[in-house]
Amino acid sequence: MTLTCYGAAGGVTGSKHLVTTERATVLLDCGMFQGPDADGRNRTLPFSPRDVDAVVISHAHADHTGMLPVLVRDGFRGRVYATAATRDIMRLILLDAAMIAAEDALFRKRRALGDPEDWKPTMTPEDVERAMERVDAIPYAHESNAWHDIADGIALKCYDAGHILGSAVPVLRLSPDHTLCFSGDLGAADVPILRNPEVPLEPCDVLLCETTYGDRAHPSFPGATDALADAVSRGAARGGTIVIPAFSLGRTQLLIYLLHQLADAGRIPRIPIVVDSPLASELTTVYAQYRDAYDAESRSDFPGAQHVPLAFENLRFTHTRDESKALNSASGPMVIISASGMMTNGRIVHHLRHTIADPRNMVLITGFQAKGTTGRRIQDGAKEVTLHGESYPVRAEVVAFDAFSAHADQPQLLAWADRVPGVRHAVLVHGEDDARAAFAAQLAERHPAWRVDRPLEGQPISFT
Ligand SMILES: [Zn+2]
Repeated sequence: MTLTCYGAAGGVTGSKHLVTTERATVLLDCGMFQGPDADGRNRTLPFSPRDVDAVVISHAHADHTGMLPVLVRDGFRGRVYATAATRDIMRLILLDAAMIAAEDALFRKRRALGDPEDWKPTMTPEDVERAMERVDAIPYAHESNAWHDIADGIALKCYDAGHILGSAVPVLRLSPDHTLCFSGDLGAADVPILRNPEVPLEPCDVLLCETTYGDRAHPSFPGATDALADAVSRGAARGGTIVIPAFSLGRTQLLIYLLHQLADAGRIPRIPIVVDSPLASELTTVYAQYRDAYDAESRSDFPGAQHVPLAFENLRFTHTRDESKALNSASGPMVIISASGMMTNGRIVHHLRHTIADPRNMVLITGFQAKGTTGRRIQDGAKEVTLHGESYPVRAEVVAFDAFSAHADQPQLLAWADRVPGVRHAVLVHGEDDARAAFAAQLAERHPAWRVDRPLEGQPISFT
C-alpha cells in the first residue's frame, strides 16, 4: 500500500492524496492550488484520472475540491463520496471557481498573456455539473455507524471535523492490516454553529494529519463576542455604516449567528444588517438547511423550531447589483457584511470606497488579513488606501480582532492526534514547512514509537 501527496505537501493548498492498495486506488480530496502562479498547476492532474476508482472529499473549500471538474472531464469514471452538506456547498464553491476561471481566461486573452491554450478557462460550469452528478452523500458516523464500501476492498466512515459545515474526518479501512484516518482540515474547539472535532473510534494505524497551525497556538480571545457588541453599538450610535469584510463560507454565517444573538439579547440596537454577496447568501441558505448538523449549544442559544439562527427581522440579503448599489445612498446606521474577506476584490471594495473617508463609519475586521492585502494595510493603520486605482483617506474607525479561527491550533491538533487510537505512522501535510517540522518534533516527543513522515509533493510513502 502506498500514499502519495500531490499537493498540500509543504504548503496549504492543492490537497490531493492518492492511496493505492493491491486492489484499488482512492483519491482523498481533489483540491486546487491557490495563490500566485497557481493557474498553470490547475490545468491538469499529475496522475491519470482513469486510474482512480473513487474519490473522498473531506470538505468543500476549493483547495480541497476545486480540481474535481477537471478530474471528471479528464476521464475519472468512479463515484465521489462526501457528506450531504459538503455536496451542496461544493456545488456553489465550484460554480464560483468556474466563474473566476472564465474571468481569468478573459483577462489573459485580452492582454494576450501566455499562449492561446491559456486563454481557455481551466474549467466551465458544465464541467462542474458533470462532476456533481458523480457525488454520493454519506452520513456522519454519529448518524449511522455503518462502513460504506467505496472501492474493491476499501470502506469509508466519516467523523465530524468541525471546520466548516459538512466537514469530515474520513477514515478508510484499506485492508485487514491498515486503516487510515485523514484529519481533513480540523476545526477549532468551541466555535459557534459547528460541533467540536470528533475522534475516530476504530484503531487507525496511519494518521494523515494537517498542520496548518502546527507551530503555534491561537491567542485565546474569550471576549470576541463582547468586542463585536461594543463595536457595532458604537458605530450605530454615531449613525454610521459598519462594513464587515468576511469570507462567504463559514465566517459570514458565524457573524449572522452572533449578531442575531446580540440583537435578541438587546446588546446591539436593531439596525439593518445586510449581507451583500451573492455567494454568501446562497451558502447561508445551505447552512440554514442543515440545522441538524449544528452543535448542541446552537439549540440552547436558539430554542424552538421557529427561532432560526440564520434569519431574523433586521437581516436581509441583496440579490441584484442595483440593490447592492442602493446601499451606498441609504441613510442611518447599518451593518454591511460583504466579500472578499481580505478586501482585495469583490463588492466589499465598492463599500469601502463609499464609507472609508467618513469618520462616522467603521471597518470591522474579524478575520486574518494576509500580508500584501488591502485588509492588512487598513488593519495596520494606513492613512490612505488605494481602491479600484484611486487613493482614499482612511478616516473611518478601524476595529480589528482575529477571533474564531476555523483551524485547530497546535495544542488542539496535538490533543486530537493523541486521542486517535492505534496510530503507528503519522504523515504530515497541509502546513508550511516550519509548521510541519515543529509539529513533527512535538509528535516525536509525545509518541516516540510513531514513524513520522513529511512527504514531498509526488513522493510515494509505502506501508507494510
Ligand atoms: Zn478548509
